[in-house]
Amino acid sequence: MEKAQESDRLKTAFLHNISHEIRTPMNAIIGFSGFFKDPDLSFERKNKYSDIVIKSSNQLLSIITDIINIASLEAGQEKIRENDIKLNALLKLVYEQFKKGVSAKNIDLNLNLFLREGEDEIISDETKLLQIITNLVGNAIKFTTVGSINFGYTVKEKMLEFYVEDTGIGIPVNMHEEIFDRFSQVEKSSTRFYGGSGLGLSISKGYAELMGGNISLQSEIGKGSVFYVSIPYKKVLKEDFLGEVVNKNKDFTLEETKTLLVAEDEDLNFMLIEEFLSDLNINILRAKTGVEAIDLFKSNPQIDLVLMDIKMPVMNGYEATKEIRKFAANLPIIAQTAYSTINDREKAINSGCDDILVKPFNRENLLGIINEFLMEGK
Ligand code: ADP
Repeated sequence: MEKAQESDRLKTAFLHNISHEIRTPMNAIIGFSGFFKDPDLSFERKNKYSDIVIKSSNQLLSIITDIINIASLEAGQEKIRENDIKLNALLKLVYEQFKKGVSAKNIDLNLNLFLREGEDEIISDETKLLQIITNLVGNAIKFTTVGSINFGYTVKEKMLEFYVEDTGIGIPVNMHEEIFDRFSQVEKSSTRFYGGSGLGLSISKGYAELMGGNISLQSEIGKGSVFYVSIPYKKVLKEDFLGEVVNKNKDFTLEETKTLLVAEDEDLNFMLIEEFLSDLNINILRAKTGVEAIDLFKSNPQIDLVLMDIKMPVMNGYEATKEIRKFAANLPIIAQTAYSTINDREKAINSGCDDILVKPFNRENLLGIINEFLMEGK
């Protein structure tokens, strides 16, 4: 009974927080985008407001991603996808991402790398590892006002041990386990000073355990915290590097005109793709339904690549891809979808898609994938 009440309390607090976390960036997006209609808006202001809109949209996206991740973890749908990764480069990425924000706050951020460059290749799930470290460093910065944050890793026998140490507000001992529960936050009042959904640590714990590891902490109120994440250390043997693709995401120019079939029912999404590709030697054909995509494919044998939206009226992208595949075994078909779980990915691949582009994507993501298929395939 008490457990059920506690769970209800957590859910109410969660809805309250999540509503606040969504409304804050939403407010900035709606407010600042309204200024763009003003023809007298100066260039500087336009730039500044557009940065705010982009930053707030990314903030919204990360909340949505957190909610989806936690739902997917709880449904037992999250799977590990291991690849060869360069550990030092991954941590440097996190460092670069936070460096600017930290210097504005007057705290030192230090990264310590244990393995030498060239010896830091491991096999792991890059996305999940990156998310864990990003969550922990993000929290360390959020809950620290003076001092320093040190993060890095060491190798202990068969385990890689990551650590993130801060000199922030600390966590009371009686909360050391609870903070890993979903929605749980030390600060419970409605006048909360720190934002956040209370999901980051439970996602990190779920991912660390899926990867065969664990997460723990040492912390004292007022003195700071150290979070530790251990995962199995799987070193890459040199031959695993053969066949590595370099320059995958480099910008490119096309000598001959290429024809792309873009199946996309939403006008704004289509306009964005058109804009991303506008400087390139690419001819775009547009379909708004799966049936239109099949018709256009049949009447235009010159098509070099298909960008296939999944959720479309009349016939969805999975069905349209299956049909097109019957006639074109080698035509690159890339699913573009806002669904991002492993299941969606498998469904797209099983329907005959070669790869998947998760919305929202930026110009680099789109060009990267087109480049990969148009350069290597044709
Ligand atoms: P969020 O940061 O979105 O609230 P998390 O799950 O990442 O959610 O963290 C849960 C809670 O744990 C935080 O609200 C905070 O109370 C506490 N916490 C996490 N990291 C730290 C830290 N480095 N220092 C102090 N408190 C922390």
